[in-house]
Amino acid sequence: MRALQEKVILITGGTAGIGLSCVKAYVDAGAKVAFIGLEQELVNDTQQLIGAPHLGICADVTNAAEVEEAIALVVQTFGRLDAIHNNAGLASPSKPLHLTTDEEWENLMQVNLKSILFTMRYGYPHLKNTKGCVLHTSSLVGEIGQENHAAYSATKGAVNALTKSMAIDYAADGIRVNAVLPAAVMTPMLKNWVQEQAVPERTLNFLNDIHLLGYCPEGDVIADACVFLLSDNARFITGVSLPVSGGAELGYRRNT
Ligand code: NAP
Repeated sequence: MRALQEKVILITGGTAGIGLSCVKAYVDAGAKVAFIGLEQELVNDTQQLIGAPHLGICADVTNAAEVEEAIALVVQTFGRLDAIHNNAGLASPSKPLHLTTDEEWENLMQVNLKSILFTMRYGYPHLKNTKGCVLHTSSLVGEIGQENHAAYSATKGAVNALTKSMAIDYAADGIRVNAVLPAAVMTPMLKNWVQEQAVPERTLNFLNDIHLLGYCPEGDVIADACVFLLSDNARFITGVSLPVSGGAELGYRRNT
C-alpha cells in the first residue's frame, strides 16, 4: 500500500514551488488531492497536470469566506478530509523592520499566518472526524532569524509556536500538527527574492553554500518529508518543527 493511499489532503499554494512538488508527491503516494491557488490559470495548469479525481480550487487563503467554501467543496467532493497542509506564503519584502510598510506587514501576516486560523476554523470538525493531521510549511528563519527579512521571520516564528500549541490543543482529538522548516528551496518565490538582493549572482552562490549538503534543493526534498509527516508512518509524531535544510542551521563553519 502506498504511504497516503486514499487519504484526502488539502494543500494551500499548490500551484507553484514547494506546494506543486507536494501536490505531485501526494498524488504519487496515493492521495486524493485538493489544492488551492490564487491564479486561475495556474490552478488550471496544475489540474491538467494531475487530472482526476483531484480538485483544483481558485481561492484566496486570506479570505475567510473563500477558505470556508473551499473546505466545504473538498468534503462535498471526497466525503472526508484527512489532512490540511498550510503551505501558501509570501516572502517579500526583503527589508529590516523599520523600513517595512504597514501594508507589507499586513500582507505577510495575512497570508503566512492568518490563513492558518481560517483553515483550522473550517477544517477542524472534519479533521476531528478522521483523526487527521495538519502540516505547515514554515521556515528555518523562524528559528534562527535572517538578515533583512524581519517581518517574514516573525510570521514563521509564529507558525513554529502555533505548531506546538495546536499540537497540544488537538492531541485529544487524535489530530497531529507538525511543520517542515526548509532553509532555501529553488522556487518562483526564491527566484524573486534573489532579484531583490544587491548582487543576485552572489546570492545564488550563497544559497548553495548555506546548505552543508552542498546545494540549494528543489521542492522534491521538502515534499518527501511532507509525505512522511502526513502518513501513518508518522502516527506518533506531533508538535515537531522538522528542519529539511541540508544542515543549514548546524554550527560554525569555515568559509574557505
Ligand atoms: P511560491 O513559489 O511563491 O508559491 C507560493 C504558492 O502560494 C503559489 O501556489 C501561490 O499561488 C500561493 N499563494 C500565495 N498567496 C496566496 C493566497 N493569498 N491565496 C492562495 N494561494 C496563495 O512559494 P514557495 O517558495 O514554494 O513557498 C511555499 C512556502 O514555503 C511558503 O510558505 C514559504 O514561506 C515557505 N518557504 C519557502 C522557502 C524557499 O526558499 N522557497 C524557504 C523556506 C520556506 P499563485 O502563484 O497563484 O499566487
